[in-house]
Amino acid sequence: MAASTVVTLDSKVSCLKGVGEQLAQKLNKLGIVSLQDLLFHLPHRYIDRTRLTPIAQLKPYQHVVVQGEVQSSAVMFGKRRSLMCRIGDTTGSLSLRFFHFSGAQKNTMINGAPMRCFGEVRLGATGLEMYHPEYQMLKDANTPLDQQFTPVYSVTEGITQNRLRVLLEQAFTLLAREASLKALLPYSPSMGSDHAPVSLLDRLNFLHFPPADTDVQILSAGDHPYQLDLIREELTAYQISLLRNKLHRHEQPAAPLLSRTLADDFVTTLPFAMTGAQQKVCNEIGSDLAQQQPMLRLLQGDVGSGKTVVAAWAALCAIASGKQVALMVPTDILMEQHLANFSEWFMPLGITVANLSGKQKVAQRRQQLAAIESGTAKMVLGTHALFQDTVQFADLGLVIIDEQHRFGVYQRLQLRDKGKASALLPHQLIMTATPIPRTLAMSAYADLDISTIDQMPAGRIPIQTVVISQSRREEIIERVRLACHEGKQVYWVCTLIEQSETLSAEAAEETETVLKEQMPELNIALIHGRLKPQEKDTIMAGFAAGEVQLLVATTVIEVGVNVPNASLMIIENPERLGLAQLHQLRGRVGRGDVASHCVLLYGEPLSQHGKTRLQAMRETNDGFRIAQIDLEIRGPGEVLGTRQTGDIEFKLADLQRDCHWLADARTQAEALLRDDPECANQLVQRWVGESEQFAAV
Ligand code: ADP
Ligand code: MG
Repeated sequence: MAASTVVTLDSKVSCLKGVGEQLAQKLNKLGIVSLQDLLFHLPHRYIDRTRLTPIAQLKPYQHVVVQGEVQSSAVMFGKRRSLMCRIGDTTGSLSLRFFHFSGAQKNTMINGAPMRCFGEVRLGATGLEMYHPEYQMLKDANTPLDQQFTPVYSVTEGITQNRLRVLLEQAFTLLAREASLKALLPYSPSMGSDHAPVSLLDRLNFLHFPPADTDVQILSAGDHPYQLDLIREELTAYQISLLRNKLHRHEQPAAPLLSRTLADDFVTTLPFAMTGAQQKVCNEIGSDLAQQQPMLRLLQGDVGSGKTVVAAWAALCAIASGKQVALMVPTDILMEQHLANFSEWFMPLGITVANLSGKQKVAQRRQQLAAIESGTAKMVLGTHALFQDTVQFADLGLVIIDEQHRFGVYQRLQLRDKGKASALLPHQLIMTATPIPRTLAMSAYADLDISTIDQMPAGRIPIQTVVISQSRREEIIERVRLACHEGKQVYWVCTLIEQSETLSAEAAEETETVLKEQMPELNIALIHGRLKPQEKDTIMAGFAAGEVQLLVATTVIEVGVNVPNASLMIIENPERLGLAQLHQLRGRVGRGDVASHCVLLYGEPLSQHGKTRLQAMRETNDGFRIAQIDLEIRGPGEVLGTRQTGDIEFKLADLQRDCHWLADARTQAEALLRDDPECANQLVQRWVGESEQFAAV
């Protein structure tokens, strides 16, 4: 590139020295195309090599620089050959261990030589140790330390931290006079030493390379005023992007699904009348489906509020118009249950119901795939197997996702795109039993329309919840025995801290064994995620038929399972779970016409935090109220569930930490889209860039 070319924010990274085709491609992977992208690729943490820590002050897990004189060094022949070097300063001494080392390396570590190391402090056999620290044998013990903190970036294969740092330094120099890099929202007035406002370029420079006197704690917490201004910008950009997605969606064509008769007739065959709330949301969905643009609607309703019949109603609207419907569920158990319901409801209407799960036999799967591809199967249920490449729909008109918090946005988009063959987008209905408080929903889900079932079917008796310590386990066993003798059925849920299916299965097996010993007269079965689908089916069928009296389970039964005769649930160590998950679990009882109970059998000692949460469970059965409490106690990240993880990568913002700004950002975004579309454009360009299409459509 000619030296005279003017470098601007929009210049491609390839204008930097040392960036060829290959490196440029790798940078693109990180979302870095232009110089502006590079400047806004902010560090996610910092390493402090600006000061020495006296050895006596070291604590395990710290990353620090220490300096001392070599006191001894020797090759050790233990389980693994290693080089062990001990250094000391005026306050104490520390062992360094190297497993890969050369003779030359060892020879430089002579007693009395000054040595400076950087690494993580660990607690080892000799007390505090460092393994493989970066180190330097010093010629002069007064060699200066770094003047700045060292930024740590998210990188990808083939790009080192150091490479990025060097590129950034270059970019800052090249852009030193670039005036177009400016605040897109009003920033807090920070003045430099010359009392002039600090430019955005200088702010960014500071965030990339904080000087040695910076309070890096504030930076790590995302609390520095420069960060706060930028976080507001980023959240606003994100809102603009979501709102633009919604506008864009409204410009896409979809097949209007106008025929409601089949759906309305179906409702009259149910053994109950729809609640007013169910009718209301059906109307909202129905009028969306009648449009020539794709629906994208979130259906919220507490556990047991009756979302499934609403889904069936919507499905029949699509099927009546000759379209196919895909219903995606997160677990095999839930799929089996939906399959039973939909078959019972739809087969009499002459509608073929197909299903796909990852664990089907080849022949069976092939047959189902053929029915989906030819279009004879109108209603298709499935787990994650649904959005795989081999699945092709003849004419997909509606996608329904049950328990959306178990899926990522990307998975949903993959399924939606299966309807694209016809150039028309399918409508989408996304169902969740994890209610999101309204303000949060409006801002975090700015791109979706929302319907809420805010009423329970009549005649439900509220679940009584008690909170009891493990020390009273014997009493609970008696209670279970009694309930079973009265013909009731019981869930016994085992929880584990680790999200490991194998470990939870083992823990549940142990519990089952103990319970069988204590209550040999009962028919006890065990269900967990490691069982084969057929085994799970058999067990669930036995429980549904009333043969199994006590079902020991892991949290696999959390979503959707419906056995009305089960009226007692024991949850062991409920303090390990989030409120939303507890509420979901508890929703497995209270589905029939007898009073139900839930026992939260906590382990001691219970933290204050834990107490407050379990108390909330005892006090209310209202999912919205529980979500609100969760929001107050644990912050929005928990309430929003998985949405922020893996779906949207922020450069600086953290939905959990910064959510109190979402509502503002939303207002700001609406105003900018209306009054200053150019600025809105620049914001999205700066913060969302190429990944805008990934925001949920
Ligand atoms: P969720 O909203 O948790 O998915 P389901 O759709 O599984 O709830 O419904 C729970 C139970 O309530 C099911 O047995 C269903 O048949 C029943 N149900 C749904 N709507 C009504 C209603 N309006 N009146 C009575 N029972 C209903
Ligand atoms: Mg459900």
